[in-house]
Amino acid sequence: MRIQTYGTRGSSPIARPQSLRYGGNTTCIRVKSACLPADTALLVDAGTGIVPASMDLLREGIRHVLLLMTHYHHDHTQGFPLAPHTFAPGVQIEVFGPREHGVGPEQTFATLMQAPFFPVDFAHVRDRVTCHDLDGIGSQALVIHPDQGARLVPTAMAEDPGAPRTPSSEGSAPEGCLIVRMHRTAHPEHTVSYRFEEGPTGRVAVLLTDHEHTDILPESLRAHLARADLLIQDAQYTQEQYLASRVGFGHGTGAYAARVMHDCQVARLALTHHDPMANDTDIDAIVEEARAWLRDHGAPELAEHVFGAADYQEVRV
Ligand SMILES: [Zn+2]
Ligand SMILES: [Zn+2]
Repeated sequence: MRIQTYGTRGSSPIARPQSLRYGGNTTCIRVKSACLPADTALLVDAGTGIVPASMDLLREGIRHVLLLMTHYHHDHTQGFPLAPHTFAPGVQIEVFGPREHGVGPEQTFATLMQAPFFPVDFAHVRDRVTCHDLDGIGSQALVIHPDQGARLVPTAMAEDPGAPRTPSSEGSAPEGCLIVRMHRTAHPEHTVSYRFEEGPTGRVAVLLTDHEHTDILPESLRAHLARADLLIQDAQYTQEQYLASRVGFGHGTGAYAARVMHDCQVARLALTHHDPMANDTDIDAIVEEARAWLRDHGAPELAEHVFGAADYQEVRV
């Protein structure tokens, strides 16, 4: 499995010389796996990073896009109306996303793509976009198989946190599939963290963005993150910024992400949702805060496996 980060900026896209190393696209990641059907790509979120992601997919001849939405704040949706795939004939986009305030993915995109906000109405592309509301966060998993595509099935949670878990018999997972599990984050909206478990290799990657520091990590969230080979986690602020004026904004810190890495036995930690005000050196400082936390808590070996996620980076999991 490989993770390609096309957008790692939070809140607002930026472009300035001091931020070229990490980049300024808002959230979009691509999950590459041999478990996906040959003409299918799997993306999470439609921040401005989905525009260059979609350009790559078109070049590869991808005809089917599975798009998982964490939530509908602008920085996670604003790229959708301008992604080439939204208008490419013969392409199908299948979207999965939570329902918040009674609003799911279809209503979100129909709202974004209408006058006076956008010149092309969603009605012009609706026949190529299939939307699924995720009503069973934690009780459903998405199973993706190279021959059978994607479907939602009920999950049976294992007793042992982090142990391999199997979808229940009602929707048993076929061999060789990618299982995508979901858990709510700590954020002002109904936001979803996605855990990707690649069946054939046993490798695990988790995206935990738009997630705020919590003093106690709920047991179910701990199980959701446990023993991930790669955790991509929101660390928008320094400790000082967070404590001074950002409590309740729904975002985390490097030190908090390091604690989660340590407590959940995560192998590698990538920090994301970089603040639009942060230059490359400011992000380096947040990475250093995370590493320092690990060194101070007796885990210097983990500190070597923390890095800042950057746009156009590809990480082998
Ligand atoms: Zn965000
Ligand atoms: Zn948000």
